[in-house]
Amino acid sequence: YQPKYAFAASTALSVEALVRWVHPQRGFVPPLAFIPFDEQTGYIRRITLWVLERAIRQCADWNRAGRAVCVGVNLSARDLLQHDLPEAFEAMLARHGCAACWITLEITESAVLDEPAKALANLARLRATGCALSIDDYGTGYSSLSYVRQMPVQELKIDRSFVMNLLASPADEIIVRSTVELAHDMGLTVTAEGVETEAILRRLGVLGCDLAQGYFIGRPMTAGDLEGWMDSSPWAVPGHHRGD
Ligand code: C2E
Ligand code: CA
Ligand code: CA
Repeated sequence: YQPKYAFAASTALSVEALVRWVHPQRGFVPPLAFIPFDEQTGYIRRITLWVLERAIRQCADWNRAGRAVCVGVNLSARDLLQHDLPEAFEAMLARHGCAACWITLEITESAVLDEPAKALANLARLRATGCALSIDDYGTGYSSLSYVRQMPVQELKIDRSFVMNLLASPADEIIVRSTVELAHDMGLTVTAEGVETEAILRRLGVLGCDLAQGYFIGRPMTAGDLEGWMDSSPWAVPGHHRGD
């Protein structure tokens, strides 16, 4: 789980679930070394159901323990075309006593491109469960606005390629600034990904980003380590950067 920092005071902490595979011989295998193949073979569906179930159970446990935490889970293009995903998702929520509004499903624009009608219909059904939907890697796709307008999403995540060089590149700053403005006009929340320094974090605050995610705030970590982070990191406190 990787935590996000909220610039404004808000009640819940949000984190993103990122799958980890530790192979008995090969050791740590990064997701980009297996997810693309699983997308090709269709095995991704089983991975997604496994990640979703784990994340939902963990989210319910945290909230039962008095920690208000929202969890984001990544879906791939294949998952979006799977007709029974909304039912499976709802059954998991019920099984673990997790409120749908504690879960955000992250999708990329390109996931909708293959079979837009089918994917958009499934997105509507997922949204109807009460969860939030988020567009991941925003800015890297080609379809941008026409699809965003049709997708029932609540959040945009600005791709880290625009965030990492924010201070050095005026062009990237323009992209971030105008994306934030556009998203806010559409009623969406904006998360910036790949925040590696405090200087970038502060700039994002000035540009009006709502949430920041990246190594500076916290690396992806186990649920247990995340609890330690929640109890000790200044970035676990929404609005922290204004007060210090
Ligand atoms: P993503 O959804 O864009 O996830 C963010 C990635 O950026 C993660 O890589 C995270 O560790 C990394 N990251 C976070 N902060 C920083 C930072 O400050 N600097 C840099 N350079 N990187 C940062 P990770 O965990 O290796 O995952 C890579 C991709 O694999 C994810 O990109 C996502 O597309 C996919 N993925 C990960 N877990 C899942 C999953 O459970 N299901 C599916 N379908 N895809 C997943
Ligand atoms: Ca993501
Ligand atoms: Ca991303």
